[in-house]
Amino acid sequence: MTVGASVPGTAPRGPARPVPVEPAHPNPAQPAESVQGPRLSTRDFSLYYGSHQALKSVTLGIPANSVTAIIGPSGCGKSTLLRAFNRMNDLIAGVRTEGEVTVSGIAVLAPSTDVVELRRRVGMVFQRPNPFPKTIFENVAFGLRMLGLKDKGELEARVEAGLRHAALWEEVRDRLQNSALQLSGGQQQRLCIARCLAVEPEVILMDEPASALDPTATARIEELVVELKARYTLVMVTHNMQQAARVSDRTVFMLSGKLIEVDETQKLFTSPREKLTEDYITGRFG
Ligand code: ADP
Repeated sequence: MTVGASVPGTAPRGPARPVPVEPAHPNPAQPAESVQGPRLSTRDFSLYYGSHQALKSVTLGIPANSVTAIIGPSGCGKSTLLRAFNRMNDLIAGVRTEGEVTVSGIAVLAPSTDVVELRRRVGMVFQRPNPFPKTIFENVAFGLRMLGLKDKGELEARVEAGLRHAALWEEVRDRLQNSALQLSGGQQQRLCIARCLAVEPEVILMDEPASALDPTATARIEELVVELKARYTLVMVTHNMQQAARVSDRTVFMLSGKLIEVDETQKLFTSPREKLTEDYITGRFG
């Protein structure tokens, strides 16, 4: 089986070469949406958990090769919005949606959408590191095996590339066969990022990826997020406004299921257009 046939969007490569990633935009200096539309978008998107409306007509565009932070008080719908981009909400019984969600122009909510392929393109990293009780190698190889990749050399190359891109390779290269559960919390989270990167996603969704980590491990994750935007589009839910200010290019502020304001991070934090945003970032509520 050729790798190109078994793993969509990949080409065979030698062991030391990094994962080739299609440039998301021919000229990264230009805003991606000016040429090909936003990488992620929603239009009039609403989501209901049974009778409870968690998202209310959210319209949003997220450009490629950027970090977007989603902030807002607990329960405002940040995680629900994040999960919409790779249909993780499908796993919850009683969920109903209205409106549109797109990833690279593809209609995410269409019944014909291949959800496995969607989740390969739109990877997710959770709040608590959740490595499988397997070796470090097998954690990163997991998604590749699911996609049908069997060639040992190719698997090794892709695992190495994933670990390198997640800034973990140097720390684990000599113990790839050890259990992932022996790693520190911060290393486990970078392993989960490596697992996500190994299948060559376009988008990485992160739900409070550093909130369970100590300050040093948090700083490493934040550095990594900034590095990764050269290749990927990142969307990060955070309850930490300083973190949003440090790592994101754009910030979305949500309240009670509504998108209140989205702007360049610096602008949103220094001169928000909406009074509600100002009240939130100055600590008047939330
Ligand atoms: P946030 O990430 O901003 O804390 P969530 O997206 O987790 O908010 O939740 C938004 C709203 O949807 C909240 O009122 C929450 O209680 C509700 N909610 C979230 N997940 C579920 C679920 N699985 N079933 C029912 N209601 C849910």
